[in-house]
Amino acid sequence: MKLQIDDTFVKELPSDPEERNFPRQVAEACYSFVKPTKTKNPQLLHISKDMAKKLGFTEEDTQSQAFLNVVTGNELLPNTTPYAMCYGGHQFGHWAGQLGDGRAINLAEIIKDDKRWQLQLKGSGATPYSRTADGLAVLRSSVREYLCSEAMYHLGVPTTRALSLSLSGEEVLRDVLYNGNPAYEKGAIVARVAPTFLRFGSFEIFAARQDKKSLKTLVDYTIKHFYSEIEQETKAGYIAFFRSVSEKTLNMIIHWQRVGFVHGVMNTDNMSILGLTIDYGPYGWLEGYDKRWTPNTTDAEHKRYQFGKQSNIGLWNLLKLANALYPLIEDADPLEEVLNDYKTQYAGKYLGMMKAKVGLELNDDSDLKLIQQLEDNLRRTETDMTIFFRLLSNVSKGLEVPEKDDVSFLADVKEAFYQPEELKGEALFFWKDWFGLYLNRLHKETDTDEERKLKMDKINPKYVLRNYMAQVAIDALDSGDKSVLNELFSVLKNPYDEQSGNEKWFVKRPEWARTKVGCSMLSCSS
Ligand code: AMP
Ligand code: MG
Repeated sequence: MKLQIDDTFVKELPSDPEERNFPRQVAEACYSFVKPTKTKNPQLLHISKDMAKKLGFTEEDTQSQAFLNVVTGNELLPNTTPYAMCYGGHQFGHWAGQLGDGRAINLAEIIKDDKRWQLQLKGSGATPYSRTADGLAVLRSSVREYLCSEAMYHLGVPTTRALSLSLSGEEVLRDVLYNGNPAYEKGAIVARVAPTFLRFGSFEIFAARQDKKSLKTLVDYTIKHFYSEIEQETKAGYIAFFRSVSEKTLNMIIHWQRVGFVHGVMNTDNMSILGLTIDYGPYGWLEGYDKRWTPNTTDAEHKRYQFGKQSNIGLWNLLKLANALYPLIEDADPLEEVLNDYKTQYAGKYLGMMKAKVGLELNDDSDLKLIQQLEDNLRRTETDMTIFFRLLSNVSKGLEVPEKDDVSFLADVKEAFYQPEELKGEALFFWKDWFGLYLNRLHKETDTDEERKLKMDKINPKYVLRNYMAQVAIDALDSGDKSVLNELFSVLKNPYDEQSGNEKWFVKRPEWARTKVGCSMLSCSS
């Protein structure tokens, strides 16, 4: 394996002098050296060939024993010193103190085609940041991270990537619903990749500990390597850095809203400093268009991280990052200005994105109302988000909305309704009203039906990783069958394409999945 390795994180940032592996508080350091725990009987389940190539692994490399050994923690890449990163975070609104890579171990930084990638194993054993937990991951959560992060990439959503999914060969004890029923599950390891896995919490930990020196070192490092367009080591540069993180975060959340993704645990330790979707845990995809929905059962009561509030939470998290950066800037006004801009930009960007989803490009005073009315309708009649927007591109400008109680005008989108029999009376009235406004509005646009459809189908995916789909892959893998994993991985590579033969994945969630654990209800247990 000929990889170009350049470990700047360990070369340029302060390390924990303690090299023994036991849980502890680690001060004045960005990371602790720690090696992955060897696994007895590892087995590769899947490789993302695209990612392997991007890192510089050849086809031959990925088929070698050495590759399996590296991605399951049994062999180190030459001349590397693996480490776990130290970070803190606000969890569910409260400062949680030191967290850190409790079950992630960074192997190395790889350079390929002028791009830097940090390669990390998730689930390969305890680190100094594991607290009382085991540092392991189970198959269920690993399949979910593996499939979803690659699916998000192909959807055009900023995200960390995945290189491989493996079984560790060990059994791991988990209490899925936290109700006193622990059971053994298959252990697994995801090798995942990002330019850097630094999070908001990586900066917060130093501010919380009033360690301005380490804070500055880390911010300077981040700007140098990942925000190289920004001036280094000046207050103006630090403000520009915060502005850029804010813009990237907003951009990411708009993409989430576009494809119907709910992260589920937007704690500040799960917010990438590069505005990437990171740490796939109890995430979910909207099926019925319900902005209050969250898949995370741990958050079922307050719904802090519900779909429709993700942008507000993004802002709240940025405020925590602003507080962390404050010691380097010592002026609140420019930071507040960035946060205010986030708010105003969000409203405009959200409207622009939703308009694009329905195929509108020009500006009209009625646009905001049109989108709000659509969202009300989608909620009022349980409507599948993905199917509705995908099918909407088939509607022709020439469609006519009948006067009488006739639902035939909904023919193009009718597959999206969970209870089509509810489309009568008031519900039907609202849909007639909306389609009337929408068709009027379409007449003001210049695109032909064909042109509009082409554009809409590039931003309204046909295939997303519905909550139950991952579960079907997991259940199959549990009994040794990789076929669903392979199939989903390949379908989700081309989410905007019509794929003959794969229509079965373009259907509403089956009723059995409505309340099944793992499909609509997920916990943080992983
Ligand atoms: P998460 O909810 O996955 O973002 O994790 C929150 C924190 O808990 C992070 O510091 C993780 O490293 C840590 N953590 C989660 N699961 C485990 C585990 N099984 N072993 C050790 N640390 C864990
Ligand atoms: Mg996390």
